[in-house]
Amino acid sequence: MRNFEISEERLIDDIGAIAGWSESDPASGYDRPTFSSSWASAREYVADEARRLGCSVKADPAGNLHARPAGLSWDEPAWLCGSHIDTVPSGGKYDGVVGVVIALELLRTQPEAPVELVVFAEEEGTTLGIAMLGSRAWAGTLPAEQIKTLRNRAGIDFAGAGAAFGVALDKIGPESFGFPLDRYKGLIEVHVEQGAGLWKKGLPAAVVTTVNGRRQYSGGFRGVANHAGSTAMADRLDALAGAAEFVLGLEALGKEFDALRSGSVLTTGALTIVPNAVNVIPGKADFMLDFRSPSNELLASGDRSIRRLLSSIGGKRGLEAGMECFENLPALPFDPELCDRLRQAGAKLGIPLPDASSGALHDSAILAPCLPTAMLFVASKDGISHNPAEFSRPEDIAAAARIVVAAIARG
Ligand SMILES: [Zn+2]
Repeated sequence: MRNFEISEERLIDDIGAIAGWSESDPASGYDRPTFSSSWASAREYVADEARRLGCSVKADPAGNLHARPAGLSWDEPAWLCGSHIDTVPSGGKYDGVVGVVIALELLRTQPEAPVELVVFAEEEGTTLGIAMLGSRAWAGTLPAEQIKTLRNRAGIDFAGAGAAFGVALDKIGPESFGFPLDRYKGLIEVHVEQGAGLWKKGLPAAVVTTVNGRRQYSGGFRGVANHAGSTAMADRLDALAGAAEFVLGLEALGKEFDALRSGSVLTTGALTIVPNAVNVIPGKADFMLDFRSPSNELLASGDRSIRRLLSSIGGKRGLEAGMECFENLPALPFDPELCDRLRQAGAKLGIPLPDASSGALHDSAILAPCLPTAMLFVASKDGISHNPAEFSRPEDIAAAARIVVAAIARG
């Protein structure tokens, strides 16, 4: 089998070429909304590079781009590798792009390996409002009826905006999609970590074994709005003071959860105070919480701890307090066998490869229930992502590429 060496230089050139297409001045960040001309040019760059290698290139009915080596027919089993090239507004150079250029480098260096490159469409969800739209449509978790209701800012629907890129709503369905998921040996997505864990430890990469589960809550404290000048401290029912105590209690609980299971996080992301006036004791304080963990047991026991904290603060302060969980997504483990393949590949190459969980959702999480799936994280400088300062070391990106090569070499 003809094999060539992974080239750090080529990987960085590809990242630079894709970064060259941005709707705005790259100094203020990279803007490649799905279906924009910069997104189309970056996607065409990937397609052209694949065609130059003799690959066959196709788009599926959700606008995801696929490329296979000339010697690999579309019916044969293959490893699926790739990620996305759309960005958030003023995003970074590496998010998504790293996984795509590694897939391209696999096509260049492993011309006889059964590898299919994929560029997922609309991963960030900033164009049509639903993240991971391309993979959801492929997995069949988003029916065509629902997709039909989506509109971009100009009021154009998915079919209209994506027609030039292969989008065909009448083919979004398990029968007509044309890229059966049981055709794949597995999906390996390389992605920047978007957290500081690996960078702080000076490690290049990690095997992502789980995508964190997520519970989101909304709730509030109810007291009595009253005059800030004439109501004695002892007579107050201050909803904001209750909420403030709750927020700090949640921060402490979050740290306990993280100590019990690393990667667990708890955030009070929104607080609304009524009437929010300088001379009125707040009568209402509404909050929204986001709780994530790789452990479903911890998500369940943590839910009970959060509710106990809420009712104890409410009771102590004479405030009405309540909350409801409006989203409950369980933690999703990736394929243990494929994770093990990646670990063994790291060991073979002498690259230390710890396990990690992903706090963010990715296309891999959408497809994981449909085919063996795993992810590799590459260290992100200072954990910064969705920001023009995003950076990953070229040698770490190349190391991740070599791990994927070794992992799929076993057939
Ligand atoms: Zn991403």
